[in-house]
Amino acid sequence: MDRLSSHRATKEVVNKHNFKFSKSLGQNFLIDDNVIDRILEGARLSETDRIIEVGPGIGTLTREMGKVAENVVAIEIDKTLIPILKETLADLDNVEVVNEDILKVDVQGLINEKLNGGPVKLVANLPYYITTPIVMKFLEEDIPVTDIVVMVQKEVADRMNAKPSTKDYGALSVAVQYYCDTEIVAKAPRHMFVPQPNVDSIVIGLHVRDEKKYVVDNEEIFFKTVKASFGQRRKTLLNSLGGLGFLSKDEIREALQAANIDEKRRGETLSIDEFANLSNEINKFSS
Ligand code: SAM
Repeated sequence: MDRLSSHRATKEVVNKHNFKFSKSLGQNFLIDDNVIDRILEGARLSETDRIIEVGPGIGTLTREMGKVAENVVAIEIDKTLIPILKETLADLDNVEVVNEDILKVDVQGLINEKLNGGPVKLVANLPYYITTPIVMKFLEEDIPVTDIVVMVQKEVADRMNAKPSTKDYGALSVAVQYYCDTEIVAKAPRHMFVPQPNVDSIVIGLHVRDEKKYVVDNEEIFFKTVKASFGQRRKTLLNSLGGLGFLSKDEIREALQAANIDEKRRGETLSIDEFANLSNEINKFSS
């Protein structure tokens, strides 16, 4: 079977199975060959790769990954797509479809059972309503993932990739860049999907670092510090860090001074290094 990424091939599969698109499941299928190639390049796909895909749809990207990678496990929530995928992926015995909700499934268990324990790459055109929880699940749950190459809404890619003191810089930027080097892989305007969504998209590569770049004594305190700092963006750090709930104003002042950060600055101006230093000082008060 040829590629499924033309509009005609996608329509044929959809019509043959009388498939009804679900808006609430974020079903916008990719119909652009070039973007598929860019995703494969961005993921630096090779024959030793073990891939997890979230939301294979009718299998457009899944097929192309199956032709190259060692194994692909594709997790799809919509049971009406399962018979379609059985057909479109029939010739690829290294591809397995799992009918589950990505947010509920035990990803580590799947990797142990079906992908030899990993390491894995997450490569997907994600359902947009749950992009952030999916990416954070992979980053925070100690899943052995080396690269995340995903199609996301342009605004989310901008936030993941943002630098300090820009309007897009926030807790998501810090969380992603704490673990990963980021790379914009490709642009995908809305006309490259069927049905057309009302947003444009970007393929972003998040390459998880082998070694930690930031010295953080207590990750829980680090992420709480970041959250509190961005919680009230208009406030100075001296005020917004009150949101942590366990520091007096004097202690906040002391921590900021020790980290060499002016108390009048706002959270959105802090680099990740500065957040790390600040959270290490705050951590000294937490025990
Ligand atoms: N990969 C296909 C493509 O590029 O054409 C489809 C991508 S579409 C944007 C998102 C896919 O994610 C749909 O197939 C949808 O059914 C699936 N999906 C939505 N929510 C999901 C969830 N919680 N767990 C797993 N898959 C989900």
